[in-house]
Amino acid sequence: MSVRFFDKLKRIVFPRGLTCASCQREAVVNEEGLCIDCAEGIERFVTAPQIDYVDGFTAAYIYNDVSSRMVKKLKYSGARYLARVLADSITIPDGWKFDVVVPVPLHYKRIRKRGFNQSELIAKHLCKRLGKKLDTSLLVRRADTKQQTRMTAAGRRRNLKNAFLADESCSGMSVLLIDDVRTTGSTFSECAKTLKKNGCAKVYAAACCFAKPDEQGIK
Ligand SMILES: [Zn+2]
Repeated sequence: MSVRFFDKLKRIVFPRGLTCASCQREAVVNEEGLCIDCAEGIERFVTAPQIDYVDGFTAAYIYNDVSSRMVKKLKYSGARYLARVLADSITIPDGWKFDVVVPVPLHYKRIRKRGFNQSELIAKHLCKRLGKKLDTSLLVRRADTKQQTRMTAAGRRRNLKNAFLADESCSGMSVLLIDDVRTTGSTFSECAKTLKKNGCAKVYAAACCFAKPDEQGIK
């Protein structure tokens, strides 16, 4: 039996609830899907610097070993069930009123390579829970921008300039943007700027994780 096949079999035999969402060990997990060790290691989001053009930001977790494993498993190993685990971790502040939920779009080339947009999967589950409408056509990515992991804050802003295109129908709307990880906030900012230039009234932003820019070596 190949290791891959065994992994697939294990996923069927030990679905969500019996394997830890972060370390993937078989374990008793809490309501967040985490084993006792990972539950201890998770850090909750408290606050982050404002993002230009964005009316409010929230996240579930601080990006660390435990939370990053969940994001990476979803993005790079195709563990799609983690989209629900991550969506469930996000609490939307009471005062936020929005018409639609919009995932941060990926360029079609990236989607073709990965097979899905992780932010869209997360947004889909969040919409189900909140009874909100998902909109994936309001905002599109027209430029296949470079990976930003090693870029400075200024480099990130340059990299994203004019990367998105908003549909005029966003005029007067309030939007909740969803992404998996926020670092400097340059992606949310560019999305919000594009939406507001097209008449969007309010733009809120929520991510599963907030990666503190200084701890990521980003200045
Ligand atoms: Zn664990």
